[in-house]
Amino acid sequence: MSLELLQKEYEALRAKAIKLDLTRGKPAPEQLELSNELLALPGTGDFTAEGATDVRNYGGLQGLAEARKLLSSLLGAPAEQVVLANNASLSLMHDTIIFSLVKGNADSAKPWGKEEEISLLCPVPGYDRHFRICEDYGIEMIPVAMNADGPDMDEVERLVAADASIRGIWCVPKYSNPTGAVYSDAVIERLASMKTAAKDFRIFWDNAYGVHHLTDEKIEIANILERAAAHGNANRPFVFASTSKITFSGAGIGGFAASKENVAWLLARLTPRTIGPDKVNQLRHVRFLKDAAGIAALMEKHRALLAPKFAAVEEIFAAGLTGLKDVSWTKPKGGYFTSLDVPAGCAKRVVSLAKDAGVVLTPAGATHPYGKDEADRTIRIAPSFPKPEDVRAAAEAVVLCVKLACAEKEAGVLEPVG
Ligand code: PMP
Repeated sequence: MSLELLQKEYEALRAKAIKLDLTRGKPAPEQLELSNELLALPGTGDFTAEGATDVRNYGGLQGLAEARKLLSSLLGAPAEQVVLANNASLSLMHDTIIFSLVKGNADSAKPWGKEEEISLLCPVPGYDRHFRICEDYGIEMIPVAMNADGPDMDEVERLVAADASIRGIWCVPKYSNPTGAVYSDAVIERLASMKTAAKDFRIFWDNAYGVHHLTDEKIEIANILERAAAHGNANRPFVFASTSKITFSGAGIGGFAASKENVAWLLARLTPRTIGPDKVNQLRHVRFLKDAAGIAALMEKHRALLAPKFAAVEEIFAAGLTGLKDVSWTKPKGGYFTSLDVPAGCAKRVVSLAKDAGVVLTPAGATHPYGKDEADRTIRIAPSFPKPEDVRAAAEAVVLCVKLACAEKEAGVLEPVG
């Protein structure tokens, strides 16, 4: 279609004055409804957990035993190697970084903050909030390419072997944010076994989407804790997960799993911070979810609500964008995001066109360290929250904005966006 026709179509879209939001990966209200029973649990007479623990009182720094058992398979570790904190997992990631900066981890010669330079590897595109932690605390971010089966391991191995300032890597191993990529067993094996110049190297294994399948395939990945231990690197992984997108976002349980030594390290660091986590909420979750099968059954209900939204995006992108030069998008089998790549120099323009037409997208660049996508190509699409009909309308608007930006680029009139 010609630039003029696309411009006309775009003006018609603007005239409709739609107002849609595809920015953050939040569960839709109908998904939250699935866990409403939690609001009445554990109930007025139910406050005693295993070992006669009174959940109304202080204590139990590591988290309730039965809640640790409940989340043990999600975290891929026995309950003794699980620490449950409060409402969500990002704060645990933040805290483990801060503790490492201030005190060092279990293998550090000195606190990271006392080193000249500290850096973390950041597979890109990746999760903006991981990058934000690094940026705020002065940890340099080194981008590495994210492939369909995980980070580019040749590059990762080369970098970590040569540079002792590199103390870790951020990983979202399953249904990653934003591409939906799943780490292959081969990639996990290499992460678990690779030689690192830093002896206190840590893998920040953010398994935020471990049970968040969108298809029947229900992909399972290798267990990083077991694989690292098998290679003599038991302390290397810090595993994180939460019930944020299982029950209530931001009102669930955040969890950590690691080697026994790392668990002892974290509990020692948490001791001055808190007398214990919210055990009432942990008990509430145990009563509601019951066990791994209970979690799986609930996730099926989430899937029934989410999968059609992802299918709509796929259908509309395929119908509108197939064959457009340098345009591609991912087809996630789980998680909360699709990643859309547009021709170099067009991502900001697409986001800006969409915004002017009433469709808010995650800012271009958010998927990269420091918010800088040098190629200006990647846009994160988060279809979970809007109603199905709004997801369709938003995806159609995005298609039109991509086509218009591509036509502008082709015609040499692509407007620069700040
Ligand atoms: N990690 C990833 C990869 C995420 O996408 C999200 C939510 N967008 C989080 C962590 C946040 O998790 P929590 O709610 O447990 O802090």
